[in-house]
Amino acid sequence: MASLKSINQDDLRNHNLSVLLDTILRSQTPLSRAELAKATGLTKATISLLVALLLSANIVKEGSPSVPPMHGRPSTPLHLDGRGFCAIGLQINTDGFGFIALDIKGDVIAQQWVSEPMEDRDPDDIFSRLEDLVRDGEVAIARCKKVIVGSALALPGLVTEDYRLLSARNLGWENLELKRFNLVRRLNPRIDNEANMAALSQIPGFAMQRKEQGLVNPSESFIYLSTDIGIGGAVVRDGQVQRGNHGFAGELGHISVDLNGPVCQCGRNGCLESYAGRKALITASGLDPDPASSPSEVMDELERRWNLGDAQTLKTMKMAAKALASGLATTINILDIDKVILGGLWGRFGDDLARRIEDQVNAQILGFPERQAHVYLSDCNMRPALLGAAQVGLRRLLDNPLEFILEAHD
Ligand SMILES: [Zn+2]
Repeated sequence: MASLKSINQDDLRNHNLSVLLDTILRSQTPLSRAELAKATGLTKATISLLVALLLSANIVKEGSPSVPPMHGRPSTPLHLDGRGFCAIGLQINTDGFGFIALDIKGDVIAQQWVSEPMEDRDPDDIFSRLEDLVRDGEVAIARCKKVIVGSALALPGLVTEDYRLLSARNLGWENLELKRFNLVRRLNPRIDNEANMAALSQIPGFAMQRKEQGLVNPSESFIYLSTDIGIGGAVVRDGQVQRGNHGFAGELGHISVDLNGPVCQCGRNGCLESYAGRKALITASGLDPDPASSPSEVMDELERRWNLGDAQTLKTMKMAAKALASGLATTINILDIDKVILGGLWGRFGDDLARRIEDQVNAQILGFPERQAHVYLSDCNMRPALLGAAQVGLRRLLDNPLEFILEAHD
């Protein structure tokens, strides 16, 4: 039986503050106190009190009052205020590592990324170099007089709740106790699979002010495909990432699209990753990159060949698109979610290719045309998992605003 917990005044206030902040974040236009009362169902008196707390801690700020066309009182729009707080997103990926510090307005306070080959690198060395980068960032944050409210780390593998990286095959890392790294002990970041973090970055108003245009609405369902050496995936239903029983859900890269296909690192035959991941594309296109080249330089070369219409590159991409479409059709048939966002390196190859994949998916799903799949390229021009990780860090403020308001008044 669940234990009963009495809700005290602070818990209630904290909850209401969090609801208020989420309402502000998810709105495409700044809301007034009266509009917030209407949207949340809280009384105007309660809203005024809560807004006063948020103003005093520099979490929201007032805009210029608008003058109503007829009689009535001018209304003052409330904006998020980035002055006081920020969060750090960290990522170690198959194409490099780095961090970003963001505030709730979505402004970047500091960022650094190192692009270099990451296979079979020493984890102690990588974590220590990442920590050096982050320490520089923390100096910049301190100079802006911002409080770091939280952090999160995105990794390209399976992460358990007790801070173990079970497996990140494309890094060659297995069964790593993440708490052994000073960076993890010191910042205590939330740690999750990079595709889950990247998917969160697509949800408007998740932890940063919603922009006018977005591929999805805050409560929509979609499949996110994260593509680099590996192919990761995440399933978002009604605005929530579906993590599964162990946090391992969404491994779309290991859907087998050919029982007689090449053996994948996971041991299966014909995994999607073996056709549409970075390494597969580079090998099949006949590129023979200098081992010292950074992953982004190699991808630039592949993109150049694609744009020039190089026959082998076009053939490789055609095969990869076919494999992607097959994997996506399987996923859509199982989940009945018809929106797909392609993130990562596939974003380089343009909307035409996305349309072709979409057509191929629609030719394979059950229920067409009653159900129609839509395939979009991510419109995120930054590293989505890094952005998502920073937003997971910001959620600590948004889920528990009273803690930070009380700290601000200490
Ligand atoms: Zn596999």
